Amino acid sequence: MKFRFIQEIQTLLNKEHVIEVDNMTIVEQQLVASLLYPYIEETSQSVKSSIIDSSKIINQSFYKNAKDVHNDKSKGGDRTLSNLPNCEIMACKKVGAKIVTGLGEKIEASSKLVGRKIFFENKEMMCDLHIHTNCSDGGLDPSLILEKAVQDGVKILSITDHNNIDAYSILKNVAHGDILIINGVECDVKFQDKDLHILMYGFDLENKHIKQFFGKIRKDDISSFRKMLKEVCQKHSLNISEKDILKFEKDNVYFDKVRLNNFLFSLGYATSPREAFNLFTKDIVEKKRKQVTAEEFFKLAKHCNAITMLAHPMKYTENKNDLNEIKSLILELQKIGLTGIEVFNNRQTKMNQEDLFKFAKENNLEYSAGSDFHCKIGVQEEKEIGHVLSQKITLNMFSPSLIKTFLLSYKK
Ligand SMILES: [Zn+2]
Ligand SMILES: [Zn+2]
Repeated sequence: MKFRFIQEIQTLLNKEHVIEVDNMTIVEQQLVASLLYPYIEETSQSVKSSIIDSSKIINQSFYKNAKDVHNDKSKGGDRTLSNLPNCEIMACKKVGAKIVTGLGEKIEASSKLVGRKIFFENKEMMCDLHIHTNCSDGGLDPSLILEKAVQDGVKILSITDHNNIDAYSILKNVAHGDILIINGVECDVKFQDKDLHILMYGFDLENKHIKQFFGKIRKDDISSFRKMLKEVCQKHSLNISEKDILKFEKDNVYFDKVRLNNFLFSLGYATSPREAFNLFTKDIVEKKRKQVTAEEFFKLAKHCNAITMLAHPMKYTENKNDLNEIKSLILELQKIGLTGIEVFNNRQTKMNQEDLFKFAKENNLEYSAGSDFHCKIGVQEEKEIGHVLSQKITLNMFSPSLIKTFLLSYKK
């Protein structure tokens, strides 16, 4: 079921009416307000004024003393409760407003929740659309990441594990009422001679193309894992049963050297994963994560209506002062389906960010932000969840149409 408010937003953008909030929870109302915020800043004047007008109407019903409103017609305040649209009265009720019918009595409401004011307050709403968990090379379980994000005040997040979407099956069973989760993933993509990371967002987890794609990656990963394991077993004359291997595969969603050490440790061949590394896997060359071609990747994105953003663009160039090379790469990718670029990321300096931001706007590319937080165990990490270069990631770091697309793809 899609959020009711999507329709309301569309109505609002069509300059027809105020947002009807009667069936929304408070969190939903906050989200509507915050997600509309970018439109005020970047949209056409007519839409802008329609939003401001609409929010003014709601504001009036919250802020004004009914008598003042009634008497002060010069300020346009000719609205009393009797001529308030029904939806506004419902809105008042929903947020616990005290509604009284007699003139001269106050309409009280938690005015922070709806109306123009919140649009601006929530500009600071924290987001993070690039986070890893232990479903790939991150250190924390998805539910712990979610807990941490909530604690740190993040309101909109996407988990973007490498070639893996299993975090979302885990999160299905975790309550996350106060946070908007956008489905995401970071895929390894080969384009020309470059090894790229491209983020994909807003796809349906049940989409058959998605299931097929990630099912195939899992198969390939398992086959590389088995090769690595075979090498260790032959070198050290270990004898591991097929039953144990199958069980390990069933219990795991990611297959790298870290997992191999864990496996050897769990079988009793070492007293710790670290010892397993020292004894058995130190010299084993880990196979690169599975890559797909750019064509294959963008075809998938098209099949599931997903958005694709080039992650941390500065990773793909040696020369950090000259962005021309990276810009032409981005334009090439745009031609074959890339939606936009991750302008705000810890790999880019402030100057890079400004440059890429301008470039995105000039070239009709969407822009986004993400911390690339990993929280790897035993690794000192500078990155913080919800932050880029120690600065909070907020809604104004995302292109408005990107936010709108997220909203539309969002399912409760
Ligand atoms: Zn990456
Ligand atoms: Zn990443």
